[in-house]
Amino acid sequence: MRAMVYRGPYKIRVEDKDVPPIEHPNDAIVRVTLAAICGSDLHLYHGMMPDTRIGHTFGHEFIGIVEQVGSSVQNLQVGDRVMVPFNIFCGSCWFCARGLYSNCHNVNPNATAVGGIYGYSHTTGGYDGGQSQYVRVPFADVGPVRIPDWMHDEDAVLLTDAAATGYFGAQLGEIAEGDTVVVLGAGPVGLVAAQSSWLMGAGRVIVIDHLQERLEKARTMAHAETLDYDEYDDIVVEMKKQTDHLGADVVIEAVGAEADGNLAQQLTGPKFKLQGGSATALNWAIDGVRKGGTVSVVGAYGPIPNAVKFGDALNKGLTLRMNQTPVKRQWPRMFEHVRNGHLTPRAMVTHRFPLEHIAEAYHVFSAKLDGCIKPLVLP
Ligand code: NAD
Ligand code: ZN
Repeated sequence: MRAMVYRGPYKIRVEDKDVPPIEHPNDAIVRVTLAAICGSDLHLYHGMMPDTRIGHTFGHEFIGIVEQVGSSVQNLQVGDRVMVPFNIFCGSCWFCARGLYSNCHNVNPNATAVGGIYGYSHTTGGYDGGQSQYVRVPFADVGPVRIPDWMHDEDAVLLTDAAATGYFGAQLGEIAEGDTVVVLGAGPVGLVAAQSSWLMGAGRVIVIDHLQERLEKARTMAHAETLDYDEYDDIVVEMKKQTDHLGADVVIEAVGAEADGNLAQQLTGPKFKLQGGSATALNWAIDGVRKGGTVSVVGAYGPIPNAVKFGDALNKGLTLRMNQTPVKRQWPRMFEHVRNGHLTPRAMVTHRFPLEHIAEAYHVFSAKLDGCIKPLVLP
């Protein structure tokens, strides 16, 4: 069969490959009738995702016809027209039982964060993807769904990832009625996020990108207001202006890591290093949301933003809530705990320095010398 094959960053080929065989009784082989390239595939293409191996076939958005089923498959029959979610999941582990299908524990036991994904490097299990004539579908009773007769193939294929992700991005935003929602990125994910935001009660939806056709699409398809970030010196200032100088209630980040200009250069050496891209949109989201607002991130991240393990946090589906502590709010309860000995702050004090020696105090504390946990300074 013919299949898309990865030959290195910026090198994609179509090559002959064997039609994948049934490997497990719960596998199906699907003859792909329609596939898509996702913004996520670009990260692979740019060489931004680790362990993307030469010879791998990408493609996690696809639909097709069931060609063959393993001996234990019960829910699918040869000839069924199916849509296959981009996640590969067992349906029965701790995570799947709670609907956390993207974190399935059984398909990709080596990974700490994400479960299995078709055609998305060996960090997600190394499964060949659907940009191909045939694809092996593991756990065939669990993931694939028969496409309803009424559904258009093109809707179905987008529902396998991009559209579902846009909707999920809006869900993660926890939009309250009347909220102003800013969507960064007018790609397929951002566009559906914008549409979905209305469904979840948004009072205003503003989409930001710099590609005119996409902004136009955001206006027509999602009835959103749009901003072209190239037209502003500082798009964050404009976001603030548009929102009574407070910032948006919710920002949905549907961009992810962008391959930056250096990348091509980094990749020219004989042994290129995989590098992540920039995190501009993520920073805009943080800057452009109001205090106490919600940033929903569905854009994908590679190794560099992962310097703070951001990609892992996303892949694990963590909830990150944060703020500077509103100290006084904590006090009434804390006072009680200290009083009855459940909290013992002073047990942390290891060092006491005279003010004269404060330089040493800094040095010791900073370099973690001498078992220093908490130095006090005595004036
Ligand atoms: P896409 O590449 O088609 O769209 C990205 C858009 O962002 C482009 O239109 C681009 O012009 C715009 N953009 C670039 N920098 C920007 C910035 N700083 N501010 C605003 N817009 C900017 O990609 P897509 O298919 O729509 O996917 C979007 C992101 O979602 C990608 O990172 C993709 O990997 C990720 N994704 C995540 C999941 C998930 O499960 N979390 C699933 C699918 C896609
Ligand atoms: Zn995708």
